Amino acid sequence: MPTAAAPSFTPPPSRTPTPTPTPTFDRAAHSTTNPASPWIVVNKHHPLDPVDYAPDDLVTVSAGEQVRAEVADDLRDMLDAAADDGVTLTMQSGYRSYAYQQQIFGNMLGVYGREYAERLSARPGYSEHQTGLAVDLGGASKPACDFDPCFATTPEGRWIAEHVREYGFLVRYTKANQDVTGYAPEAWHLRWVGRSLTAHMAELGVTTLEETFDVDGGSDYR
Ligand SMILES: [Zn+2]
Repeated sequence: MPTAAAPSFTPPPSRTPTPTPTPTFDRAAHSTTNPASPWIVVNKHHPLDPVDYAPDDLVTVSAGEQVRAEVADDLRDMLDAAADDGVTLTMQSGYRSYAYQQQIFGNMLGVYGREYAERLSARPGYSEHQTGLAVDLGGASKPACDFDPCFATTPEGRWIAEHVREYGFLVRYTKANQDVTGYAPEAWHLRWVGRSLTAHMAELGVTTLEETFDVDGGSDYR
């Protein structure tokens, strides 16, 4: 008697679920050259284009200063969180127009001459403040340290160094990264980039947009 062919056996499809891939950060999600992009890289090699760019969604926050609408909520959360920790941060500067930056820089030139003015202030068209994504904060405990290197040693300056990334902000210019950014340390100048990017940069262990996106920088204007 012929042996009946053994019924072929097809294993059922594997029930092992496909593992969800670890979400990878999409570095191309936003432009680094469009001035309206949250990830725009502005430095002495990369002016805004157009040089007289102005955002169209500015909102007024505290002290009559303005920022882009997408910055305002994180800014409010950050100032509230600092207040909860007993730290009073004051809004010193937000959006600055091309024309206003021209005026500031012109005054600096007249008073200090080109070399020192260049160290204190950005040329018009090269300031992060013109994007509406940057703020300068001060502290209530020692107002004399506002815009001064001693701000870094105040309770407000220390709170900023420790916490602002949680709210999507970077301390853009630090002592450690000044060769990359081309600016002297400014413990009070914060640049909003959004929480996903600050988290990604923390994972990478980098503090500059230039290193994150492989964009050149430095202290010489190009
Ligand atoms: Zn600033």
